[in-house]
Amino acid sequence: MTPTTAAVTLFTIVTLGYLALCAVSPFGNCRKCRGFGFYMKTDRRGRPRPGRICRRCHGDRKRIRVGRHLYNAAARTRREGTR
Ligand SMILES: [Zn+2]
Repeated sequence: MTPTTAAVTLFTIVTLGYLALCAVSPFGNCRKCRGFGFYMKTDRRGRPRPGRICRRCHGDRKRIRVGRHLYNAAARTRREGTR
């Protein structure tokens, strides 16, 4: 197997794996708050306290995956175009 073939194979496997991930679980944890839904802050004694609601996911804890977002956009465009 040449290095190019190996690279293409690896890329294909990674892409297929990501597509499968998008199909199985279209939502991932919010990257900003790591799935907490709010920011953690510490009080003056250094103990962790729940802070404000995450600005990015508004406390939903989840974000849509990029691949799924692209699929949704493509599906919407196709639906709009073929009716
Ligand atoms: Zn968040």
